[in-house]
Amino acid sequence: MDIKIIGAGPAGLVTGLKLLEAGYNPTIIEKQEVIFSTLCGEGLSDQTLSKVPFKDWSEYARSTFDYATFIFPNGTKAYVKKKCHTMDRTSWFRAMAKEFEKRGGTLQLGTEVKNVKDLKYDLLIGADGPLSVVGKHVGNKFSAMVGVQTRLKGDYKFDGMEFFLDKEYSEEYSWVFAKGDIFNVGLLGPMAKLDAFVKHVGLQGAEVIDRLAYTIPFFGTKLQKDNVILTGDAAGITNPLTKGGMAAAVYVADIIVDCVKQNKIPEYEHTVLNHPVMSPVYKDALQDFRELTNDQLNRFGTELNGKDLSNLGKLFKAKLLMASLLKPRKLATLMKATKYANKYSW
Ligand SMILES: Cc1cc2nc3c(=O)[nH]c(=O)nc-3n(C[C@H](O)[C@H](O)[C@H](O)COP(=O)(O)OP(=O)(O)OC[C@H]3O[C@@H](n4cnc5c(N)ncnc54)[C@H](O)[C@@H]3O)c2cc1C
Repeated sequence: MDIKIIGAGPAGLVTGLKLLEAGYNPTIIEKQEVIFSTLCGEGLSDQTLSKVPFKDWSEYARSTFDYATFIFPNGTKAYVKKKCHTMDRTSWFRAMAKEFEKRGGTLQLGTEVKNVKDLKYDLLIGADGPLSVVGKHVGNKFSAMVGVQTRLKGDYKFDGMEFFLDKEYSEEYSWVFAKGDIFNVGLLGPMAKLDAFVKHVGLQGAEVIDRLAYTIPFFGTKLQKDNVILTGDAAGITNPLTKGGMAAAVYVADIIVDCVKQNKIPEYEHTVLNHPVMSPVYKDALQDFRELTNDQLNRFGTELNGKDLSNLGKLFKAKLLMASLLKPRKLATLMKATKYANKYSW
């Protein structure tokens, strides 16, 4: 079976490795002469990494944390106890690409696909990112947000993989992910807010390595046209709440392999749209999350301070309801969405 994958980002590489493992011989076509990562916070959970058929990745995990920390505007903190890492994505992707070739896959670097109609294939997998040419061919539409990030070298005392929930800087969230002696400091929103956030975390005097912005696509609508399918950012499967895209691509790679193995390629889009990575609950949850005020967030923070978010009992949820002044429907939606996001989005 002639399987072609466009793009050697995380979605293309992981899908390629999984197809090889299942006994197929895919070709990855990548426009860059040398593989480089796109802009990313580079945060990933150990659970997701264990599903990537490439060992030993540990050399590419620059920092490892036992938990992620959610920091509320008033400085209170809640935790999600789960092992996670910041990856050195460029070197990790290069190592995966090398392994892909070693195991018999064909990697064609320096080849930009301009028109899908020029290609011959039995199955074409578009993993060519947010500006996907394959996505245009399929007719995919998605929502998008800008993510901005600066890489800083300086002194910073971090407490886990840090997510800041403060509307002053982002209507969604901002982050500081330590990566060895470098800090990936970013937010979902405009570049204009980044300096203020950097100052807020006390890194304004740090050496600036770079400062970049990139599109984050989510709520993809059309993932397939006959034997042409989409994954990763080309599909718009990034988690709408966390904006984590690597985990979604890893879970969807399993769906691709299943569809190929069981001769069920026509069912691909339906299967992905019905998987928790694309759960309809995210639509309301994202809206509700964006509408939360700093005052409500602080009430949550005060109740949750020091607690493990992945392990809250029923009584505690009732207490949260009273404290946050959130309607029960909204709290239930947010809880369900965060449960899925915790499992499938980082
Ligand atoms: C600021 C920011 C922070 C983020 N933080 C995180 C995070 O901490 N954790 C997380 O999981 N996700 C995060 N994400 C999302 C994550 O980076 C993306 O979801 C992920 O990189 C998507 O992978 P991909 O392989 O689908 O696409 P990409 O990484 O965009 O890779 C696409 C590849 O296709 C190639 N290509 C493109 N067009 C063509 C063509 N026409 N022909 C041939 N090749 C082509 C490109 O050169 C590229 O190599 C973040 C995103 C942003 C913007």
